[in-house]
Amino acid sequence: MDRVDVVIVGAGPGGVSAAIRSRELGLKAVVLEKGLRLFQGIIETYPRGKKVYPTIPKDEEQPFAIPDLEPANEPVEEYVSRIEACVAKHGITICYGEEFQGFSREKDSLTVTTVKNRYKTSAVILAFGSNIPIDLGIYGEAKVVARNLGNPEEHIGVPTLVLGGGNAAADVVSTLSKTKRAAGDSTPVYWGHRREHFKIDKDVARDLGEEILLGGNIKILQGAVPRIGEVDEDGVERLIIQTQRFALPHGVEITHGMSFPMKHVIACIGTQGPSSIFDRLGLQQITCTAGVCKIGKEGAKLLMLSHGLRTSVNGVYAIGGAISPAYLHVEEQGTLRERKHSNLIFKAVQDCVRAVEDIAMQRGGTAPPRPG
Ligand SMILES: Cc1cc2nc3c(=O)[nH]c(=O)nc-3n(C[C@H](O)[C@H](O)[C@H](O)COP(=O)(O)OP(=O)(O)OC[C@H]3O[C@@H](n4cnc5c(N)ncnc54)[C@H](O)[C@@H]3O)c2cc1C
Repeated sequence: MDRVDVVIVGAGPGGVSAAIRSRELGLKAVVLEKGLRLFQGIIETYPRGKKVYPTIPKDEEQPFAIPDLEPANEPVEEYVSRIEACVAKHGITICYGEEFQGFSREKDSLTVTTVKNRYKTSAVILAFGSNIPIDLGIYGEAKVVARNLGNPEEHIGVPTLVLGGGNAAADVVSTLSKTKRAAGDSTPVYWGHRREHFKIDKDVARDLGEEILLGGNIKILQGAVPRIGEVDEDGVERLIIQTQRFALPHGVEITHGMSFPMKHVIACIGTQGPSSIFDRLGLQQITCTAGVCKIGKEGAKLLMLSHGLRTSVNGVYAIGGAISPAYLHVEEQGTLRERKHSNLIFKAVQDCVRAVEDIAMQRGGTAPPRPG
């Protein structure tokens, strides 16, 4: 098992900054990224060509904590390429395809588990952002389906299933259908949603209607519930969805279903905040009640953090998008104060520098100022 000083979960702006600052302070760090690219979270959520702004929250007086990470109003593709070059310049290694699962705490160390490996460390920085994909809720050995449309051309010549009832799913259905139609491909795009009603905006509905009128082969499956992920006898990972269910006497049911190769399934079923992950990891959170929280919505859980963005588990820090839009700061006297935390690149970068400097101090050092 590898032993490192810091395990950083997520290679977004926060995780990359933490790795840069760790290197500057002589800490051995490993960055675990579940995706296959740096800034996977940004790549998945920003529209193509979107400009990335260097927004600084109103109440901040400090400049960008790591200037190399400051966006320059450039399109997202250019920003990501620039940071890739910067990561190479700083000699940072990122372990791609390593999805963090959890940690266990022994007396004076933590063991972090991913799908592939285990790491022993004394500090963990949770920099996994705010977009945690909602689980498909299926049983079986095969579980991984795409969450967004990569290259639509990969679906030409094969029926494709898009899951989800909102605008994101509708956009993917339209784009896929257009691509297939342009290639003279008549295989259908199935659009499945577990409910009867789809919730999409007028403009998106107009695009979709136009696509159907122009000859797009779109088949709608209402009440389609993903059930099982299995590997078939040919080794193909398949998703089985239930499309209809009829009750017979004495508790017997007839169910109809369809099975699709997982590589032709795209699940646009949204994301959720990381609160359920914090719960699973045993990190203390407090539920907002009416009149007490000003930023957190009633019923939302806010993470408790003390000096240096330390969570309630010794050695574990949380930063960036994962603690936005607010957290509860444990003041020195033990009182709790709600703190606003803007979900911006500026904050993710600033947080990581704070957390890494706290880790260095805990190890008995004093954090030297950043070079430059
Ligand atoms: C559409 C859109 C536009 C935006 N525009 C701007 C802008 O112009 N300027 C600005 O300052 N901010 C902008 N933001 C906000 C900004 O993108 C976020 O504040 C920032 O990305 C947060 O950085 P982060 O490192 O905390 O999280 P993220 O960028 O979300 O990175 C988290 C990383 O962790 C990985 N991860 C997640 N779970 C795991 C796991 N279990 N194991 C391993 N890895 C994991 C993810 O794949 C991801 O790469 C925008 C956000 C959106 C959605």
